[in-house]
Amino acid sequence: MESYDIIIIGAGPAGLTAGIYAGRQGTKTLILDKGIAGGAGLEVPSMENYPGYELIAGMSLIAKTKKQTEKNAEIRELEGVETIEKVNNGFEVKTSKNSYFGKSIIISTGTKHRLLKVPGEEEYKGRGVCYCATCDGLLYKDKNVLMIGGGNSAVQEAIFLNNLGCNVTLVHRRDKLRAENYLQNKLKEKKIPVIWNSTVKEIKGTQMVESVVLSDDEGNTQEIKTQGIFIAIGDFPLSQVAKDLGVKVDDYNQVITDKTQRTSMENVYAAGDVTGGVKQWIVSCGEGAVAATYAFQDLENIKTD
Ligand code: NAP
Repeated sequence: MESYDIIIIGAGPAGLTAGIYAGRQGTKTLILDKGIAGGAGLEVPSMENYPGYELIAGMSLIAKTKKQTEKNAEIRELEGVETIEKVNNGFEVKTSKNSYFGKSIIISTGTKHRLLKVPGEEEYKGRGVCYCATCDGLLYKDKNVLMIGGGNSAVQEAIFLNNLGCNVTLVHRRDKLRAENYLQNKLKEKKIPVIWNSTVKEIKGTQMVESVVLSDDEGNTQEIKTQGIFIAIGDFPLSQVAKDLGVKVDDYNQVITDKTQRTSMENVYAAGDVTGGVKQWIVSCGEGAVAATYAFQDLENIKTD
């Protein structure tokens, strides 16, 4: 079984940054990801609040970060972690392909999209039901689409779809958006229509999505013809491997950490969206850097046989 000083689970902004910091201390570091490196970062259409870049797409920043990380750590993609077990002076990490020994672990597994859980959502997934405007937006150029949600993601992605030439309407369940003001102002500037106080009851179609049934807060329904429905209603933490290992999570299943990103278990750290808090790219990077710094510091106290 191959041995590492630090094994990082998840190659989003937090995990990749942890890899840079860990590798630069001279540690032997492995980063594992069940998909392609980038995580939720790949879905960010554009960012205007990452220091040093007035405007950058998530995909570009991931490509740059990945290149930098590869100089410092080994990245294995399409290799999902199935279990982490505590063994003598370290951890055994079993993936879909291999087993590895790590003296310490950094969990940066991120989050998963929350589902609407309405009839038709599962059935039309990939056939009009989408969760990533950056990935699927172009397919809906010149078409009618609904964007569901009122947070930063929904508003940002609605603007992105509008820029692509989609005829997008935002649907929000309340009369006030949660998104930051600068995004709300852009939404107004672009004259993107908003349907307020409405929730999705059903997604209908034949081969592909054809309409969506909305209900307002008085229970009145309307059926809107649309070729696509993008859903951006938040997310939940991917903390199952941490929980199975015995690491403490909070009531929302977010991994609990202190300011050093140490978790409730010795030599296990967590960083990024899986820990909750302010879900911003820069914050994930910061937490990744902190986790790797303390993981490195703590390594000298680990006695291996
Ligand atoms: P979010 O902030 O949690 O917003 C989720 C939105 O979906 C809310 O408006 C919520 O409505 C709505 N919603 C939740 N469940 C719903 C349901 N079942 N049906 C209809 N609507 C529902 O999620 P997010 O926008 O994905 O953002 C996640 C985190 O990433 C946030 O911390 C955000 O700040 C951050 N983020 C930042 C940026 C940036 O560039 N600054 C970009 C993207 C994301 P209510 O408002 O009524 O609760």
